[in-house]
Amino acid sequence: MNIFTYEQPGNTASAIALAKTNGRAKYLGGGTNLIDLMRETVEQPDVLIDVTGLDDRIEMRADGSLFVGAAAKNSALAANAHVRDRYPFLARSILSGASAQIRNMATVGGNILQRTRCRYFYDNAASCNKRVPGAGCDARDGFNRYHAILGASPACVATHPSDMCVALAALDATVHLGGPLGTRMLPLESLHRLPGDHPEVETELLPGELITAVEIPPLGFGRRSTYRKVRDRASYAFALVSVAAALDVDNAGVVRDVRLALGGVAHKPWRAAIAEASLKGNPAGSDAFRRAAEAELAAAVGLRDNGFKIELAKRLITVVLEELMGEEK
Ligand SMILES: Cc1cc2nc3c(=O)[nH]c(=O)nc-3n(C[C@H](O)[C@H](O)[C@H](O)COP(=O)(O)OP(=O)(O)OC[C@H]3O[C@@H](n4cnc5c(N)ncnc54)[C@H](O)[C@@H]3O)c2cc1C
Ligand code: SF4
Repeated sequence: MNIFTYEQPGNTASAIALAKTNGRAKYLGGGTNLIDLMRETVEQPDVLIDVTGLDDRIEMRADGSLFVGAAAKNSALAANAHVRDRYPFLARSILSGASAQIRNMATVGGNILQRTRCRYFYDNAASCNKRVPGAGCDARDGFNRYHAILGASPACVATHPSDMCVALAALDATVHLGGPLGTRMLPLESLHRLPGDHPEVETELLPGELITAVEIPPLGFGRRSTYRKVRDRASYAFALVSVAAALDVDNAGVVRDVRLALGGVAHKPWRAAIAEASLKGNPAGSDAFRRAAEAELAAAVGLRDNGFKIELAKRLITVVLEELMGEEK
């Protein structure tokens, strides 16, 4: 363990000021990912800025949007009555992740910025471009069952591990940021990056930027939504593939609107925009769902151990939409 200091700012401005004056500072949420990475010396901050005392409100606003302070605990968001009522798939996605104890510690901001679970990233003896740019990628020809099938690059085939972010991507959530250059908002979908030649740059965050909140716009058909996660164990395991979906079908059986996002398949939560476009305005049904899944996965590429995820993702999309259509009847 390297030597570091610990700060507990009383407000957002102080937190950002601390980050500005300390080059190797890290914001600390529940610490359920960051502390593990520090133990492995993958992360070596010299200052930890504890942001768990900042905004943890979860509020339904007059326009029907949901405001979530970044310090809100994962468990609090999953248990929130508005979330369970209006966006049940968001609650399900959170509850499918980690364990009750971890969800009680983990914050919304930390969940969004948790790092990949690629085992070579955590292993200092392995070559990893994300940990040491230019070092190579042991996962490409190594154990890559959990790795990406979409949007990967020769430099990195890691996936983003968050379940919650998959539902947030489907919900068109926006992230509120504060930093040395001021405040701004970014669609969650644009926050995480694909690896390209620089897998060490994982997000569009500027140096010292803090996630202060997440905003979820109203979704009229959000009640008809679900989150399905396929994994190697029933609990305490990351997704092989997961699907967040919401479906709105009119009385004539035509898809009025649909939201689809995938987890476990890419370096970022994967909004299935191609599948959504192929479904909207067309008759709903198993064949249409399968065709949409085929279109979304057309560009997928399997590695040594994870080629099965391509068919798995197609089947999961199809079955989840069938399930939601069943609820429509
Ligand atoms: C055994 C185990 C199993 C797990 N299984 C799952 C699973 O199945 N699904 C799943 O989704 N997750 C899973 N997780 C991961 C867990 O969800 C994350 O560790 C947790 O959400 C991270 O939140 P945190 O507040 O503890 O973040 P921290 O560990 O405190 O921080 C994570 C990162 O976010 C940064 N950060 C924190 N808050 C902010 C902020 N407000 N602004 C800017 N940067 C910030 C930190 O600097 C750090 O880089 C698992 C974790 C463990 C240990
Ligand atoms: S997949 Fe990415 S995180 Fe994993 S070893 Fe390769 S470069 Fe590192």
